[in-house]
Amino acid sequence: MQEKGNISIHTENIFPIIKKFLYSDHEIFLRELVSNAVDATQKIKRLSSLGEYKEELGELQVEVSIDKKAKTITVSDQGIGMTADEIKKYINQIAFSGASEFVEKFKDAGDAQEIIGKFGLGFYSAFMVSEKVEIITKSYQEDAKPARWECDGNTEFEITSVKKKDRGTDIILHINEDSEEFLEEARIQGILDKYAKFLPITVKFGEKDQSVEDGKDDEGKVKYKTEKVDNIINNTHPIWTKAPSELKDEDYLQFYKELYPFSEEPQFWIHLNVDYPFNLTGVLYFPRLKSDFEVPKNKIQLYSRQVFITDEVKDIVPEFLMLLHGVIDSPDIPLNVSRSFLQSDSNVKKINAYITKKVADKLGELFKKDRTGYEDKWSNIGMFVKYGMLSEEKFYEKAKDFCLLKNTAGEHFTLDEYREKVQVNQKDKDDKVVFLYTNDLAKQDNFIQSAQKRSYDVLDMHDIIDTHWINHLEQKLDNTQLKRVDADTVDKLIDTGDNQESVLSEEEKTTLQEVYTKAIGNPALAVQIASLAPDELPVTITLPEFMRRMKDMAATGGGMPFMGNMPESHNVSINANHPMSAKILNAKREDTRIKFAKQAYDLALLSQNMLEGSALTQFIQRSVDLASK
Ligand code: ADP
Repeated sequence: MQEKGNISIHTENIFPIIKKFLYSDHEIFLRELVSNAVDATQKIKRLSSLGEYKEELGELQVEVSIDKKAKTITVSDQGIGMTADEIKKYINQIAFSGASEFVEKFKDAGDAQEIIGKFGLGFYSAFMVSEKVEIITKSYQEDAKPARWECDGNTEFEITSVKKKDRGTDIILHINEDSEEFLEEARIQGILDKYAKFLPITVKFGEKDQSVEDGKDDEGKVKYKTEKVDNIINNTHPIWTKAPSELKDEDYLQFYKELYPFSEEPQFWIHLNVDYPFNLTGVLYFPRLKSDFEVPKNKIQLYSRQVFITDEVKDIVPEFLMLLHGVIDSPDIPLNVSRSFLQSDSNVKKINAYITKKVADKLGELFKKDRTGYEDKWSNIGMFVKYGMLSEEKFYEKAKDFCLLKNTAGEHFTLDEYREKVQVNQKDKDDKVVFLYTNDLAKQDNFIQSAQKRSYDVLDMHDIIDTHWINHLEQKLDNTQLKRVDADTVDKLIDTGDNQESVLSEEEKTTLQEVYTKAIGNPALAVQIASLAPDELPVTITLPEFMRRMKDMAATGGGMPFMGNMPESHNVSINANHPMSAKILNAKREDTRIKFAKQAYDLALLSQNMLEGSALTQFIQRSVDLASK
């Protein structure tokens, strides 16, 4: 049998165009051919299990081999194979019509993935790297005659008869000059490791050396002198394809190692499993985050029926969960379409919502089942949870019950519990509950201690995300205000309306204010007299909450950009009731007064680590002076 024909498309020679357009993604030809081989193998398995195929199945595997001498790559399977008619139908007509449609419509498009999938160019992607492609195939059907198809990249094809004993298909690529990199074992191994790692049919890879001319023996079977196709690429039953009830913790940890050999053990994981209204399986791991906020993205891998598609899962996985690791497998995600389409795709939206819900449920369950364990993990999980609450309203609604606040004593509270704890002692004159927080235990120690003297509780909020988180909480929580401990002097932090009396007369206050203004010598700073307890510092420097927050937001990429450059606008509060104030007023000479005031002011700066350079040197000299008098 010999048949020559012409593939009926308008464009004379489409392959140069395919090559040109698909240039950047050449390596995916192998993904396409291996998935076709896997599909064909799965089909024969199905036919056999349905009783429609009664012969021995034999060892079902897909072999990928390189022959450097012959400059070929062969992909072989023992799948359903094709008859000559089927080749004509599936390869010549259907696939080619896809190819020609592509050429018509997508002359200006750029994304190979998209084009290949959309127009069923799977098989034809072989021409990106080949000058000639052969198909040698024998159908599973009774009395089927093996057939050989050959095409050299023109629109002409040739079908001839051939000898082939076993059922299945060999696709032989004669690699073109520009693509010889694909004859390197390491290159092919790399591609297979990327795309075929979890395919459901065993994939083997190795080198072959063709000894017989044209590679076939008398029976037409492909024959080789040396065969080393023994390197198994894949794990055919990755854990996401199994039922959670079959799996132990070790299995999940083992799989994590398989995915990320160099990563630390994850904290916990979520097994995703849904079949309605869309299909999705997968395992998502919560990694241990390094405190320095080095965020590894693109760690979630997306599969479609165990074929690796991409690790850019943006738009499919909610943004705040991009920090997770693991795999998602769904045949329902439209893989080969553009990003903008993905965003509006209803399946993708549902998947997004499902993952969000599932993660929230898992966290809620952990919290309920093992509060202590959950609290231990909080420093790590907190990032995800807060980020999620900030970015997804639905997640906030669930997470508000298991999101934790930690105070300076290291105790954890839910939002409700915390409110309950502080509302009696930390209510201001307008009935607002004030949550106090610090973002730097060491720097703000002095303020924390002042607050604690009043039996106020202080939250430890030092995560980068807390700046935004605090704003968000304030919007969400009724009648609640958050204030950093150094936002005001302790008497004003929670303004109850009843002020401590001042021991100074109005005149003395004015004098004191003048002395300090002179001593500080910075007209931009607001110097005010406060009536604090005598055991508070003589001078306190504060940064009003609102101003500081604007600056913080600007610094972490939110709020108004110009705020980042604003000068610090501190308030300086002089404690009228401190003995130092009396001492200053009692001093006879003005220079003595100013010296004392400077000393008190510098101590305030020092208490907040704000004293440096020559100001610090002067302070030390003055202190030595005063001490030796
Ligand atoms: P798709 O796989 O998207 O259908 P392809 O161009 O990759 O598009 O393949 C076209 C058709 O050729 C397949 O649908 C299948 O019927 C047939 N085919 C390709 N490779 C094989 C194979 N290894 N064994 C049997 N049939 C195959």
